[in-house]
Amino acid sequence: MQDQARESRQFLHRYTPPPIDGSFRGKHIVTVEQFSRSDLRTLFDVVFDFRSRVTNHDRSLLDICGSHVMASLFYEASTRTDMSFQAAMRRLGGRVVSASNGVQFSSVYKGEDLADSVRAAACYADVIVLRHPEVGSSYQAAYYLDQLQARVTRQPVVISGGDGVGEHPSQALLDLFTLVDLKGGAAGQTITMVGDLRNGRTVHSLAKLIGKLETRNTTLCFVSPAALPMPENIISYLKTHHINVHETGDLQEVLGQSDVIYWTRVQEERFENRAEYEAIRNDFIMTPEVMRDAKPDCILMHPLPRKNEMGTPEQRDALDLDPRAAYFRQMENGMFVRMALLASVLGAV
Ligand code: ASP
Repeated sequence: MQDQARESRQFLHRYTPPPIDGSFRGKHIVTVEQFSRSDLRTLFDVVFDFRSRVTNHDRSLLDICGSHVMASLFYEASTRTDMSFQAAMRRLGGRVVSASNGVQFSSVYKGEDLADSVRAAACYADVIVLRHPEVGSSYQAAYYLDQLQARVTRQPVVISGGDGVGEHPSQALLDLFTLVDLKGGAAGQTITMVGDLRNGRTVHSLAKLIGKLETRNTTLCFVSPAALPMPENIISYLKTHHINVHETGDLQEVLGQSDVIYWTRVQEERFENRAEYEAIRNDFIMTPEVMRDAKPDCILMHPLPRKNEMGTPEQRDALDLDPRAAYFRQMENGMFVRMALLASVLGAV
């Protein structure tokens, strides 16, 4: 596993993701750094369009990806990313394939490496959604798919569904879309991210995507236990992109000024030392009492799944009734955003 980790990370340098630059067709999606402000506008126009067509049961959607196949290749657990990509492809008329009983019962079980499994999926599908525990794994997949193009008749693309503690670009797109949807965008907003900022790939990608927008009046507040801060490279990326950054361990310092509260789970599976996890797992718990001090017009987001960081089941039920709770909308938006992303990289819109 250590070898795989080292190998995948190398591809962060060996593979340079292409900027979208007005054309999504045929581009692998591995980092939010590929998107410009105008690419996001183009994508979100498609999202709004697809959302209203799905809501109206517009059957013409089925023609958009009717000739395409998506492969779902998940080496890590997933509910929302996997299901929403699959639903997105089907709502566009496309088909979905995956190893019948999950990758653990594919040739991965026999010791096949990532590059070969990705190439196998690419021989059968036009787009692969890949989730893998190692940082750089989606870059590695993109690198090998580019090489494969010389040997096969088609040019399949990969979309990252999350690579370890690295990035989760499609989640950041749906998070930003939800911000646009409910708050008109990130400009002028104070956005507070809370929890395990060291290991949470969703906050890494969302912070960087907000950085890409270069809105000088956006403030990002990072609230975390001292041991789990936002990585230094992301903080400096934001500073060079003119985003105001405020780091603290005290939620009360920023809660009352936050327009967006982005709560996250402590990433238990990333801790090698159980005692370290136990020591901080209850540091930040969101409850209806905490929301009493938040702005009346703020929104509360969460990438989900949620556990103890959103209190007891009773507290969670009460939170869900708060009109500021935006995580179900966020989850639903995920499917529309992934529909737009799939159609765009497949050149179908
Ligand atoms: N579902 C998100 C992810 O895959 C968030 C989480 O697991 O906490 O990163």
